[in-house]
Amino acid sequence: MTGIADNLNFLRSRIPPSVRIVAVSKTKSVEEILQAYDAGQRIFGENRVQELLRKKDLLPPDIQWHMIGHLQSNKVKQIASFISMIHSVDSMKLLNIINAEANKAARIIDCLIEIFIAEEETKSGFAPDEVESALATGEFKQFENVRICGLMGMATFTNDTGRVGREFRSLQELFKKLKTKHFSNNPEFSELSMGMSGDYEAAIAEGSTMIRIGSLIFGERNKP
Ligand SMILES: *Cc1c(COP(=O)(O)O)cnc(C)c1O
Repeated sequence: MTGIADNLNFLRSRIPPSVRIVAVSKTKSVEEILQAYDAGQRIFGENRVQELLRKKDLLPPDIQWHMIGHLQSNKVKQIASFISMIHSVDSMKLLNIINAEANKAARIIDCLIEIFIAEEETKSGFAPDEVESALATGEFKQFENVRICGLMGMATFTNDTGRVGREFRSLQELFKKLKTKHFSNNPEFSELSMGMSGDYEAAIAEGSTMIRIGSLIFGERNKP
């Protein structure tokens, strides 16, 4: 059995230094997270607010916590004071609420817009045409306490590497199009969060700047 630090170093050796790793620590213990922390990892991703809050208080304060899972509107206020980035903004309503809670917390919260690129029906996010019409209203420009830093997407869970590559490419193309159309004066619109343990190489080949890696670092998760 290799350790968490070894797994992280192996992963680092396989990706360009410009690509950031979000260590997805959902279901993993504080001790396991600390092993990754001690190996230099600072960005951790969780998908449940309750679990995140419980672990956060037991871990070093310089960890940058990223919310990567579906976020209910009524839970935003519980994380607004500290969350470093929210990858899973799947509606303008949610963005509006994040903005309001960030304002109360006197913060500006970095957000990614989640785009639905996969085949599966269970995956959430904006459809590509929906996001275009949502941004076309310009409403998002009034939100002074959120910074839209880019897009997030998940490819279909399949061995069909051609499909996965096409899905990541479509996200990259959408990113470029939206950047030109709506964010040409926003240099912070620069992140493409795509790629997980099984498909991060394909994602990097299509321009990922942030990969979200759980099982390759921490080992397989026990099914809840
Ligand atoms: C669990 C999860 C990951 C990490 O999955 P692995 O296959 O274990 O790397 C990445 N992104 C999201 C949104 C997740 O929920």
